Amino acid sequence: MDSEHRNYVGGRWVDAASGRTLTSLNPADHDDVLGTFPASAADDVARAVEAARAAYPAWRRTPVPKRADYVLRVGLILEQRKEELARLMTREMGKTLRETRADVQEGIDFCHYMAGEGRRFFGLTMPAELPSKFSMTVRHPAGVAALITPWNFPIAIPLWKIAPALVCGCTAVFKPAEDTPLLATILVQLFEEVGLPPGVLNLVHGLGEEAGAPLVEHPGIDVVSFTGSREVGTIVAEVCARLGKRCSLELGGKNALIVMPDADLDLAVEAAAWGAFATSGQRCTSTSRLIVTDEVRAEFTRRLLERVATMKVGSGLEPDVELAPLINAKQKERVLEYVGVGTQEGAVVLTGGHELTGPGYERGNFLEPTVFDNMTPGMRIAQEEIFGPVTGIIAASTLQEAIEIANSTEYGLSCAIYTRDIGATFIAINELEFGVVYVNAPTIGAEVQLPFGGMKGTGNGHREAGPQALDEFTEWKAVSVDFSGKVQKAQMDE
Ligand code: ADP
Repeated sequence: MDSEHRNYVGGRWVDAASGRTLTSLNPADHDDVLGTFPASAADDVARAVEAARAAYPAWRRTPVPKRADYVLRVGLILEQRKEELARLMTREMGKTLRETRADVQEGIDFCHYMAGEGRRFFGLTMPAELPSKFSMTVRHPAGVAALITPWNFPIAIPLWKIAPALVCGCTAVFKPAEDTPLLATILVQLFEEVGLPPGVLNLVHGLGEEAGAPLVEHPGIDVVSFTGSREVGTIVAEVCARLGKRCSLELGGKNALIVMPDADLDLAVEAAAWGAFATSGQRCTSTSRLIVTDEVRAEFTRRLLERVATMKVGSGLEPDVELAPLINAKQKERVLEYVGVGTQEGAVVLTGGHELTGPGYERGNFLEPTVFDNMTPGMRIAQEEIFGPVTGIIAASTLQEAIEIANSTEYGLSCAIYTRDIGATFIAINELEFGVVYVNAPTIGAEVQLPFGGMKGTGNGHREAGPQALDEFTEWKAVSVDFSGKVQKAQMDE
């Protein structure tokens, strides 16, 4: 495969005007270079936005089922190339092959789901209060969209944005994460392969500040869909507010798993281990707080440590590895810093806490799975998103206390409770301030037909996936047709 990659603008593959490039490296082996990519700047972004604007009128008028067919066909190719893309994704992003296959699969599922939306795309009809008048709602595309994505789901998250944007009739400029540009490039190539008209989907690589920021600012962008850190999301929201743009944000979480005294402890332990350490804790839904009731805390802790001791850390391409490397050295340092913060705050490291540097680990960003005990709700490690293989146990004595602790962060993405008590189950469902709630299932593992997103600081009220995904990229039009032959006056005529 050619190792010099380009932006995709108006149906053509082009370099950044400056000629500058960025390099994508394998997080398990820094010597493994996946390719170079344009380090784009405002002028490159402007060309991509112009191309998307030029393509918009015709795309908006293309029948919805036809728009959706392109998405379906991309899903079908992804199915064929699943294994190849999963392997490349493990090389570029690090996570294990089982997980990268799942990432591609989620993309396939969502393409199929959104292709179906092309033949639904329902509006509502409602009665009119005046005679001989018909009322209905129809969706209208939100315009030209900026799609800005993180690196942890290099196929699934971009498709969560691209598929509904295109089905809804938006044209788009996609700015993928600088750590996973190769998978983003291949994904866009698939849309080219199925014959998507030029300019409907454009790709601009580059750093957040150099390419992402001018994209959000560009007056030709009507709607911004952003997934990433809370810090950057806040900037995006401020810019969009100032410029009067729609924006939807998904900004991570501080997800909790509650273990009640009557829980099936084997399931709870496995869910905790999977939820905390899959993707090395680099999911926005990773379980970073284990809220365990007093009766079962000692036993839960013992079994969890036993399970964590079996976890092998290494390259995601090795079949028995459970913890793959972190995305980059900066992220590794950040996680190690948090381990230090937790210790200073008085939490106790039960296992892990170190970088792995011995044979086999020399050229990657490897960390041990880390479990804190004696974490208390106010600690920084219990409040801030760490995005690494670190979780901690917080004690609780009652369901009410467990729920209060779970709700006591600024985030509200994903939460789980392990219990066999039907009353506790429904109290938890009612009281937990999270956009995603699991009963007897881990905090990770979203399915595409369900809305995904968080309450409070996790977002700004939008949801991705599920039927709600269409709301991100459409405006509602309320349409009334009066066939009475009169000018009827609402609220006045009898
Ligand atoms: P993460 O920690 O997951 O990398 P970031 O919020 O830093 O999260 O990045 C998520 C995405 O946002 C990436 O594509 C990144 O390039 C982009 N980005 C970073 N800074 C900005 C910014 N100021 N404006 C727009 N996009 C940005």
